[in-house]
Amino acid sequence: MIRVHKLMIVENEHLYGPGKRLLIYLKGCSIHCEGCINQHLWPFEGGTIMNSSDILEICKKESLEGITIHGGEPLDQANGLYDVVKTIKNEKYTAILFTGYLKKELNNEQLKVWNISDIVVAGRFQIKKRNVNLQFRGSTNQRVYTHNGPYKGYKIQDGFTTAILTIDEEGNMDVNGFLTEDIARLVGDK
Ligand code: SF4
Repeated sequence: MIRVHKLMIVENEHLYGPGKRLLIYLKGCSIHCEGCINQHLWPFEGGTIMNSSDILEICKKESLEGITIHGGEPLDQANGLYDVVKTIKNEKYTAILFTGYLKKELNNEQLKVWNISDIVVAGRFQIKKRNVNLQFRGSTNQRVYTHNGPYKGYKIQDGFTTAILTIDEEGNMDVNGFLTEDIARLVGDK
């Protein structure tokens, strides 16, 4: 079981990885990086409890390439998450993991999730090293590991900024991705 804040179907390789994917925001983070833009996801309470069958069903129904796991801190839910990743990978879907941990910090359960994921984006967000022109990462200290399966040797493309602005029928704006000063002003973040 995993505790989910939000699910989105996304198609933006620069932010979330190749192909059409299920983006999963998990609840809870114990790391608390200074300047984190997802502080509303730090509490572990709330959200929706889902299991591996729920996630697999969405992958099949939407004909996805795989899942991209964001937080919160996904590896703070390593037990349930391993079951999800193993289940979807058994059906040939891919998994991309974003974590604030480094490999040397992981316990055995967390390491299992790291090892089974196809791409891992790892390390604390460091506000002093913030850079909005990186693929997948928010700060230059973070690292990308492309150790498994179809993405082995995947070439990271830095040098430009991507943000997705969504406006719903009531005019509410939501932005995903990296906020440049211009985009932040536009959505009223600054
Ligand atoms: S690990 Fe991720 S969610 Fe947690 S504080 Fe750092 S940037 Fe925010």
